[in-house]
Amino acid sequence: MKGRFAPSPTGRMHLGNLWVAILSYLSTRRQKGQFVIRIEDIDRQRSKQEFSELMLDDLEWLGFEWDEGPRVSNNDRQYYQSYRGHYYESQLNEWSSKDIIYPCYCNRSRLQTIMSAPHFGELIPIYDGRCRDAGVKIFNEIAHKKVPSYRLKVKSCLIEYIDFWQGLVSVHIEEGLHDFILKRSDGMYAYHLASVLDDIAMGITEVLRGCDLLEPTVFQIYLYQLLGKKVPVYKHAPLLMDTHGHRLSKRQQSITIQELRQMGYSSHQIIGLLVEKTKLVDSRYVSSSGISLDELLDVSLDQDVLKKSTIIL
Ligand SMILES: [Zn+2]
Repeated sequence: MKGRFAPSPTGRMHLGNLWVAILSYLSTRRQKGQFVIRIEDIDRQRSKQEFSELMLDDLEWLGFEWDEGPRVSNNDRQYYQSYRGHYYESQLNEWSSKDIIYPCYCNRSRLQTIMSAPHFGELIPIYDGRCRDAGVKIFNEIAHKKVPSYRLKVKSCLIEYIDFWQGLVSVHIEEGLHDFILKRSDGMYAYHLASVLDDIAMGITEVLRGCDLLEPTVFQIYLYQLLGKKVPVYKHAPLLMDTHGHRLSKRQQSITIQELRQMGYSSHQIIGLLVEKTKLVDSRYVSSSGISLDELLDVSLDQDVLKKSTIIL
């Protein structure tokens, strides 16, 4: 099997990143699999090369070793999404020739009006399928000089999968309503597209990430089915929250690995602190000098704590 950790370099590595990195590393190593690091720097406005390097430095310092990815593979640029645009584009061209995707010229305010409708869901973005109509499409191409976004023409269906920790996920996908964006009008490829195409290209068989993607994963499964590819095993880990109910993510000035390091914590102490606080490991087994990734390899990942959707630290 092959697992991966795929961070977005939009800031310094924080405890939320580390949590997912530890779990994906342990899950892969426990199955004697290959561990891949991929840098998801597709958001060109928010991603910075400097942060990629600092994240890789942090991962190395924490004791992570990877079999494929930046710094270990030949031609390691292929593990950065920013260098893979040609690959995403060729898939879009193929779908375009089969009339599976269509340009959408709707402006932001129109999309916001649709989104504020009563059936608005935070996790599943909705659309009304307006630009899917051939007549509207021709009108749009004539009337608008601006660059469109591109949406997938989905067919109504029920998508179900069993998440390793979260259990059955079942979502009805509706034609038009759920025609999701594959490429934005500013030229940025959508997360679902890039992530699925990369996981397929890299032979990833297990996808472990945060629970915020539990439901949106159905769109990724839709893409796997469209491409005729085998769907990976999904493991959506609980999100780490602070006591105010905010997610520990870099957007909210969360504590970074670098800050902990400057405060004098060793890599083993940081890992120990995290696995103890999340109750992945009983505090009796974590000494004051912390715990290494190798020592964690004996820890079972089939635990009730991982079946929660959030963990408050
Ligand atoms: Zn539209």
